[in-house]
Amino acid sequence: MTKVDVKKALSGISADYMHSQIEAYIGYLLAYSLEKIYGLNKISVAAYSVSNDGFTYDFEKSEDLSINASEFKKIEKEIKKAIGGNVKINVEKVTKKEALEICNNSKYLTIKISEYNDSKELYLYKVRDFICDVSSEPYTSSIVDLKPAIKLLTVSGAYWQGNEKNAMLTRITGVAFQTEEELSRYLNLLEESKKRDHRKLGQDLGLFVFSETVGKGLPLWTPKGATVRRILERFIVDEEIKRGYLHVYTPDIANLNLYKKSGHYPYYKDTMYAPIVIDDEEYMLRPMTCPHHFELYLSSKHSYKELPMRIAELAQLYRYEKSGELAGLLRVRTFCLADAHIIARKDQAESEISGVLDLIEYITETFGLKPGLDYSYRLSLGNRNDTKKYYKDDTSWDYAENVLRKVLNSRNVPYREAEDEAAFYGPKIDIQMKNVLGKEDTAFTVQYDFVMPKRFDLKYINESNEEIEPIVVHRSSIGAIERVMAFLIEHFAGAFPLWLAPVQAVVIPISQDLTEYASTVYNKLKLSDLRVENWNESGSMQNKIRLAEKQKIPYMIIIGKTELENNTISLRRRGSQQSVVVKLEDFLKKIKEENASHSL
Ligand code: ZN
Repeated sequence: MTKVDVKKALSGISADYMHSQIEAYIGYLLAYSLEKIYGLNKISVAAYSVSNDGFTYDFEKSEDLSINASEFKKIEKEIKKAIGGNVKINVEKVTKKEALEICNNSKYLTIKISEYNDSKELYLYKVRDFICDVSSEPYTSSIVDLKPAIKLLTVSGAYWQGNEKNAMLTRITGVAFQTEEELSRYLNLLEESKKRDHRKLGQDLGLFVFSETVGKGLPLWTPKGATVRRILERFIVDEEIKRGYLHVYTPDIANLNLYKKSGHYPYYKDTMYAPIVIDDEEYMLRPMTCPHHFELYLSSKHSYKELPMRIAELAQLYRYEKSGELAGLLRVRTFCLADAHIIARKDQAESEISGVLDLIEYITETFGLKPGLDYSYRLSLGNRNDTKKYYKDDTSWDYAENVLRKVLNSRNVPYREAEDEAAFYGPKIDIQMKNVLGKEDTAFTVQYDFVMPKRFDLKYINESNEEIEPIVVHRSSIGAIERVMAFLIEHFAGAFPLWLAPVQAVVIPISQDLTEYASTVYNKLKLSDLRVENWNESGSMQNKIRLAEKQKIPYMIIIGKTELENNTISLRRRGSQQSVVVKLEDFLKKIKEENASHSL
């Protein structure tokens, strides 16, 4: 057993890292405090994690013990006492065998330790004699001389390892910051993000629903949600066609042998649906599109003149996600990926990848997102030593990683490199999007692949009539439609810009004797391809305005007597208290321009 020098390990670390260290520290103190308050026989440690959302502690408790949010004050007090008393986290380096011996009376820690490689060095995290966690990372420890500000946020049930077949544990989440100011800033943002939560807004605005009868993680799109989706899909398909992509359709299911041929099957087996047996053959719901596109390419011979060939599809994919990990539209069991595979000569790789980044930047700019601010680039590299996870071909890895690095350098954008984050067939550039709380998630990826061309024996004929192996770039432009919808709902807080709004304008006559003129206005707007509703049923104008605001409709067109007499409309913008009187023709011209320019 070796003691880890924590102070030394912490010197020269980044602010983000420091924050995660603080949360790790507080998370362990939470475990320790629970044990202190409720006793070891009542609490059994299960799992502990720190993410951008704060820290999470899962534990098993005896049935007679109930812990709810009303206990938080008591627990927080105990944690603060430990902070004040400079209670340290001790980190001990142990072998797997030692860890198993030390933790032999902890069911979950024992399972956790057993899952590590036999030769792996492990770290035990202890507060006094209480073992809080075991990990393969020499993560954390006492943050010397800091007095962090803390807040426990939620208590809920969570399945062990997110699997509903496992035991239901208790989960407490919380956050910790260096100062009270940082904590209160975060709590304000958290309030804001709750208001923007796409699950809540999706329901309020009637965009999508889930039905237990249909199945978990399988969204149903309402007419309004489907409208936004269709606009997004048309936007992306039109833009890709402009940029030389060839849009195709391939089936949602395919013979299992196809995924064995691609090599996806062993890697993705756990996230794929079980095979469907028909006529003694096994079929799979597709988890990805790549092999489908390669078979399409193989259907005829191709000359170098046809390359790069950019095969694209809005492809419905199916992946098994553990029920505990499903989250609104962000984590679903079926999603539509704006996918493409660029089959290119090796010397075209750089310009093709750069072209993909151009497209991604164009799309994100349309949504008002800026590189560096709203998202960042990550160069995800392989690991030459891990031949189980990554295809073994060091020269190709070096070459591909350098191509991606060169592209990023030439674009003059900040990026960071992340080891051991690549796909099994090659390195990739990930576009990491930040949400309201600053939490990062991979939104789009561009991957360089030198393995699939071999597996599928992809070839093109060069100038000298020889068969040459191309390279493949896998990329998503707008990502999964479901994810991007979730993101956009939260980004715009449900108030979509005109071009994306499911209902763009609503006509509201002040009184029933104006419904005829209101219908004339409505029909003219409708004929101009605007998504407009006519609210001419009786009811108060004020209520209708309130409802339109609640539904976040960009324009309200109020029809009164003066408007009828002067052949005008009274126009009110979402969020504004004032109306302006304009000619219908002028409004039509303006709204068409706003729509076409994707104005924000
Ligand atoms: Zn692919």
